[in-house]
Amino acid sequence: MKKNQRIETKLIHAGEPHPHKDGAVTLPIYQTAMYEVQNTTDYHDIAYIRLNNTPNHVALHTKLAALENAEAALVTASGMAAISAALLTVLKVDDHLLVQDCLYGGTHNFITEDFPAFGIEYDFIDGNAPETWKDKLKPNTRAIYVESMSNPLLQIADLKQVPQFAGNHGLVSLIDNTFPSPINFRPIELGFDISLHSCTKYLNGHSDIVAGAAISTHNYIKKITHKLNHLGGCLDPHACFLLHRGIKTLAVRMKQHNDSALKIARFLQQHPLIAGINYPGLASHPAHERAKELFDGFSGMLSFELKGGLETAVRFTELTCLPVRAPSLGGVETLITQPAQTSHSGMSPEARAKAGIHDGLIRVSVGIEATEELIEDFAQALSQC
Ligand SMILES: *Cc1c(COP(=O)(O)O)cnc(C)c1O
Repeated sequence: MKKNQRIETKLIHAGEPHPHKDGAVTLPIYQTAMYEVQNTTDYHDIAYIRLNNTPNHVALHTKLAALENAEAALVTASGMAAISAALLTVLKVDDHLLVQDCLYGGTHNFITEDFPAFGIEYDFIDGNAPETWKDKLKPNTRAIYVESMSNPLLQIADLKQVPQFAGNHGLVSLIDNTFPSPINFRPIELGFDISLHSCTKYLNGHSDIVAGAAISTHNYIKKITHKLNHLGGCLDPHACFLLHRGIKTLAVRMKQHNDSALKIARFLQQHPLIAGINYPGLASHPAHERAKELFDGFSGMLSFELKGGLETAVRFTELTCLPVRAPSLGGVETLITQPAQTSHSGMSPEARAKAGIHDGLIRVSVGIEATEELIEDFAQALSQC
């Protein structure tokens, strides 16, 4: 494969077997747990689903690595399997982690609830204040962990500083790149060591599987694979097939997510009932310039508050007809949620208020339906609020 292919082409062709297996244009599903040992087979080359080394895994690994211009990748049973296996690979007992203070809930809970039992220490950092990170360093600090875009407020940390800071202090830099997807952002190019994804979201894009990925160097992927083989979080071949199929249309889907969310954000921003809106594509967003510099698009995620708070938010959500009321994100269908009642309900009301997640906040994962019809739907719902 040519190294300088565009991402749209890599989505289709990277990692595909040449010649095609039995002439099959799409990679078949290898629904077999174990593989025959050949005379020449090295023990370490024996294929087995839990070892994530069957043909369905290998094709995905090559494709995912190509998408972020990295050396290697690993698919996992979920985003949390990728995140937990990666963190447990780079951290051991008595190590210390610097971690961004606004995190995906599962990651937050893994770190705060499970790290003590592993004897791993952590401190939260403000991603927007790199000058304060040094104060949190300890002699045993080993890694720094951030997210490309925060949920549900779509804030963007000073991401350029992270690999630099890590390099200066001998840390491993990890980033959860789920929200932008490789179409909008490729953190390895910025110098990050390990990029992590919930492929459940944009990469698969069809809301029908749970999967994850780690993208990095050969060296880190080898180590993370070794850890994941012990933990058992392998991706099933049928889920591999669905992810593989979903990934092929990532570029066209992301283009529509990006375009549509920007148009909807602009419509909402000028509406008299809107009290505030979070979308990095708007000039009013505090990190708009940073997002423009780092990202090739602003993704399909936006959140906003209505005048009238919680009560109006509930009414608005009920009055919309097209979006499905469901958590999660990144699929072809538009989803609408109130994070205080779903993804962030585990936080105390005080902690939520401190994080700026008000009870009336509405989060939308903009799907790929006709933009005009989504705007029409939001407009009719607002007109009745
Ligand atoms: C959903 C999500 C995860 C967890 O992924 P699963 O596939 O549900 O395990 C991690 N990080 C982010 C940013 C997510 O949106």
